[in-house]
Amino acid sequence: MMTPDTLVVDTYRLKPAQVKALAKLKILTLKDLLYHFPNRHEVPALERKINELKEVPKDRRASEKVSVYGIVLSTKISKAFRKKIPLAEMTIEDETGKLKAVWFHQVYLVKPFAPGRAVKLTGVVSKRKDEIYLSNPQIEAVDELGGGTLFKPNEANEAFEAQNFLLPIYPESRGVSSAWFEYRIKQLIASGILELITDPIPPEILKKYNLPSLKTALVWLHAPQTEDQVKVARKRLAFEEIFFIQLARQSLRKKYQEHSSFKIKVTDELLKDFISRFPFTLTGAQEQTIKQILEDFTKGEPMMRLLEGDVGSGKTAVAAVTAFAVVKSGGLSVAYMVPTEILARQHFESFIQYFRHLNINIGLITGGECRKFPSKIEVSGHTHISRAQLLKWVANGDIPILIGTHTLIQKTVKFKNLAYVIIDEQHRFGVEQRAKLASRHERLPHLLSMTATPIPRTLALTVYGDLDLSLLDESPIGRKPIITEIIPESERAKSYEKIRTEIKIGRQAFVICPRIDEPDLLKELAVEAKSAKTEAERLQTKIFPEFEVGLVHSKLLPKDKEQVMADFTTGKIDILVATSVVEVGVNVPNATMIIIEGAERFGLAQLHQLRGRVLRSSHQAYCFIFSDKKSGKALERLRALGQAKSGFELAEIDLKLRGSGALAGGKQWGISDIGMEALQNLKMVEAARAEAKIIIATNPNFALPDQKMIHFE
Ligand code: ADP
Ligand code: MG
Repeated sequence: MMTPDTLVVDTYRLKPAQVKALAKLKILTLKDLLYHFPNRHEVPALERKINELKEVPKDRRASEKVSVYGIVLSTKISKAFRKKIPLAEMTIEDETGKLKAVWFHQVYLVKPFAPGRAVKLTGVVSKRKDEIYLSNPQIEAVDELGGGTLFKPNEANEAFEAQNFLLPIYPESRGVSSAWFEYRIKQLIASGILELITDPIPPEILKKYNLPSLKTALVWLHAPQTEDQVKVARKRLAFEEIFFIQLARQSLRKKYQEHSSFKIKVTDELLKDFISRFPFTLTGAQEQTIKQILEDFTKGEPMMRLLEGDVGSGKTAVAAVTAFAVVKSGGLSVAYMVPTEILARQHFESFIQYFRHLNINIGLITGGECRKFPSKIEVSGHTHISRAQLLKWVANGDIPILIGTHTLIQKTVKFKNLAYVIIDEQHRFGVEQRAKLASRHERLPHLLSMTATPIPRTLALTVYGDLDLSLLDESPIGRKPIITEIIPESERAKSYEKIRTEIKIGRQAFVICPRIDEPDLLKELAVEAKSAKTEAERLQTKIFPEFEVGLVHSKLLPKDKEQVMADFTTGKIDILVATSVVEVGVNVPNATMIIIEGAERFGLAQLHQLRGRVLRSSHQAYCFIFSDKKSGKALERLRALGQAKSGFELAEIDLKLRGSGALAGGKQWGISDIGMEALQNLKMVEAARAEAKIIIATNPNFALPDQKMIHFE
């Protein structure tokens, strides 16, 4: 018997290519098939007699598809206009008249149809000088002499029109067409399989928000009669997705907070003294956030907090102050996890600056090396130590602050009383890693996730549904807003001159390229993106021979990477050519200019991050954007980058620009296109969140269905 869990391969006789295509679309079961939603719907083509075409009103001609059956009278292939576009013409005839059709560029479509053949043409009606014709219609051979479909009687047409289904257009993959999906899904629905699917949303909630049942929603999406039905169905499925993400997050939060945590208290005096050594005064937002965190620390249950702060807003200082509070409480440890080795070393250095007067040991662990501060021999510096030694000292509490990459969460790393986990640039880490870190300990550490990816509020509420939110929405005083310009190729030399002037007065520059190597010309003709290696060479020899140009990318050995970064930090290197390895967190305050090549290849958030690299001092910063794209969506996105004043504003623009169409953006958050639609609707997200909270609080055993959308990274 067919059930929603039956595999598609057990239900249909499929060609290997189809099996592959379905697998690629992640369609394994019949339920997956039912959850394969159309991208859009079209008004189906209406079958018309030739003499009826004149009656299609002008304002509906472009939108209303028609199908016409006829016998081919003549075909002609030629070149159109002076432009020499290949042109094919065909004239067909039915019992009511003659009709012309024309095709540009696609003459091969017409070639197989000799005069005398019966065809069906489907397309929209055009009119020129009183003559009705079809332009670039689809063409199909049909049975001679009607074969049932040719010269259909008008009654049948009327019946079809009365039923008036909108035609679903499905995302396709090589081997399975939209028509295949339409046919199979309609057949499935007709088989009654929807009766076997339980609606995962409790009926009270459906009623409260006036949402259709799952069954109705599925029918309305696959075989709607009106656009309204589609809208309501999508709304219901969007709600469903967001609701279950919320449930999963709220349940994670509940599990986390059922554990106890470490109570941390530090005197105001100690804190003031620590902060007074900073070379700057904290912003109000930093103070506020520190206060929130310290308050969470006193509650005895583990903190789960997200710190969202634009690039350069000073998150590291918040991390340092709060880490200080933890180590001062005695016998407790802090883990500080970051996404790249460069960043780990940089934070290690910053922490040494913050903590050096305190006689506190700080460790660094990455895939490649381990270090400890201070060194026994030279107390003001750090020293390399073996991994085993480091792990021992971390385990016995001699090193209470450990900074590192994701190696930090490996099982072999044992902390003495891990009380505080800081995760920097946390969008790189999945929820699962968050959970994993948590689940290893009896008493759970306080958790602070930090991110500079400003995301729309609705998205934050959803993907970080388990976290409390702190915002650093105030940039340190004295920072000038960055000047961002999209530079046409003809102005390239001018930008280089600007950079030359700035370097001469002591500033430095980044040049970001989308690739490391020159593309393998034989293999990838398609990729023309600038490569970091050749660009570095070109800049050094042809443009800036008087300056020092450096190169850093992910394929360098860690020690070489470090050398380059050190040379850039100390000013030995004036211009650093890099791939997006410098994207997150890298802090060289004297670098005030950034050139981004092939900018259309980066996402908006990523571009914003990159730009943040030069927003770290009181000097005027510049971002010069080069792009191969001269128009269209890509350029529109880049323009937004120039206009948006903050990352938060940019995030909202991004959401609007991407709209609800085929967006790639949702995938990185584990949200489908339909789910992304919900994110344009704050009320809906808040409702889903509120309901999930109630359920988790009142019915902890509420079963999370194995929705296919609840997969994260
Ligand atoms: P992000 O939030 O991007 O991680 P960082 O913590 O790296 O930012 O800080 C960026 C720079 O700003 C650093 O050089 C830091 O020393 C400096 N900074 C942090 N807070 C302040 C402040 N309140 N006033 C001035 N400079 C600050
Ligand atoms: Mg940072």
